[in-house]
Amino acid sequence: MDLATKEIDGLMRLIGLTKEQEIDCGQCHAVIAEFAEQQLTGRSIPDGLKVVEDHLSIYAACREEYGYCRRQCGPWTTIDANIQKYSR
Ligand SMILES: [Zn+2]
Repeated sequence: MDLATKEIDGLMRLIGLTKEQEIDCGQCHAVIAEFAEQQLTGRSIPDGLKVVEDHLSIYAACREEYGYCRRQCGPWTTIDANIQKYSR
């Protein structure tokens, strides 16, 4: 499934996101599945979703959630690399 830019915008509005803003875990969980799916499609992360990337770099619990989403909808091949990327 492709997420159109319009849908991404809607998603951002849904959780009240703007750029340069940190999100909390609730907001993170609201978009984590879509975020994982974006990565699985091999497309670059939309600017609006960069905050999710930032969040994952900080919160281990959400990295686990992200990993779970990735396992649900995609192959294992790149997940470990991504988890490591988000681990500091
Ligand atoms: Zn979180």
